[in-house]
Amino acid sequence: MDEAFLNMDVREMERWLREEDESRLEALWRAADDTRRENVGDEVHLRGLVEISSFCIRRCAYCGLRAEHRNLQRYRMSSDEILACAREARAYGYGTTVLQSGEDYGITREWLADVVREIKAQTALAVTLSLGERPDEDLTAWREAGADRYLLRFETSDRELYDRIHPPTDRQGLSDRIAMLKRLKQLGYEAGSGVMVGIPGQSYTCLAQDIALFRELDLDMIGVGPFIAHPDTPLGRSELPSAPQGEQTPNTELMTYKVLALTRLSCPEANIPSTTALATLNLAQGRELGLQRGANIVMPNLTPVQYRALYEIYPAKACIQESAGDCHACMKARIRKIGRVPGTGPGGRKHLNASAAH
Ligand code: SAH
Repeated sequence: MDEAFLNMDVREMERWLREEDESRLEALWRAADDTRRENVGDEVHLRGLVEISSFCIRRCAYCGLRAEHRNLQRYRMSSDEILACAREARAYGYGTTVLQSGEDYGITREWLADVVREIKAQTALAVTLSLGERPDEDLTAWREAGADRYLLRFETSDRELYDRIHPPTDRQGLSDRIAMLKRLKQLGYEAGSGVMVGIPGQSYTCLAQDIALFRELDLDMIGVGPFIAHPDTPLGRSELPSAPQGEQTPNTELMTYKVLALTRLSCPEANIPSTTALATLNLAQGRELGLQRGANIVMPNLTPVQYRALYEIYPAKACIQESAGDCHACMKARIRKIGRVPGTGPGGRKHLNASAAH
């Protein structure tokens, strides 16, 4: 591959983020797609997403689930409902289920440990958790119960911007998601993280540094999607400052593809989803283009339809009305249409370079 794509530093990545020339971008897409094929192959793994609770104690400036969004009707699924979704995931042939929620302490350590044990006993699926910042005792108990992976986006590597959009709670002091990611790895979880693209206040340099941090943390999974304004949040009401003109990253589809491609080139072995936020910007093609520019994972939504619209992290989320069955059929068709194959098995992180294994 062209030298220009190997071992890029932050300055070179920033240059790519600012690149507008279509033929040069074509070369970037091709390099990312080649790297994806050589390292993780043509399989697209499906992760069945279950949004288990919309309760949240946080006040994140970007997210519609924030505690201060009082008009939102909240729900928490029962363990029976969650187990039914996990069985559905297995019936569709998925290797993994992802349980995601707001930061909800109504989800107790013991209750969730039981749910994880039960999923493992009934389905043998890989279990990924994405439940926000939880104390060490919770993470330990869930790992012991059999949870395999944990997703926690650091959202931005710029500490000042992070504190602005992710204020501390009374329960925990200043939040440190990077420390928690390192801890998750120590506990034996596969660790996933990621950022939003185009957060007001995010500069090009800071976005390039985000990608460098993905590599430094040696993440197993990396999710990137565009920031989508939610009108009932401070960022959606433009209450927080943008970066200076010429510095602010746009929250566009194109910028998201650039970040996806650079992420694949920086972290060749990582599992990288083509996200729902991307599909929300381009329903017809977003998922496919994501898969052709670095991604190798999709996350079909298994959340029961009556809860879908209530899990409103941003408005007009793609596929909100679709049943799990429709979502499943649609994803598989999209994968095949672009000449790829639905993955089998749990689809965990592959360590191709033995010296990098840990
Ligand atoms: N409570 C969990 C899960 C949050 S939802 C947690 O905090 O980790 C998962 C991801 O959705 C977040 O990490 C964030 O990156 C993304 N998200 C939230 N609000 C968004 C918005 N308005 N636009 C785009 N992505 C958003």
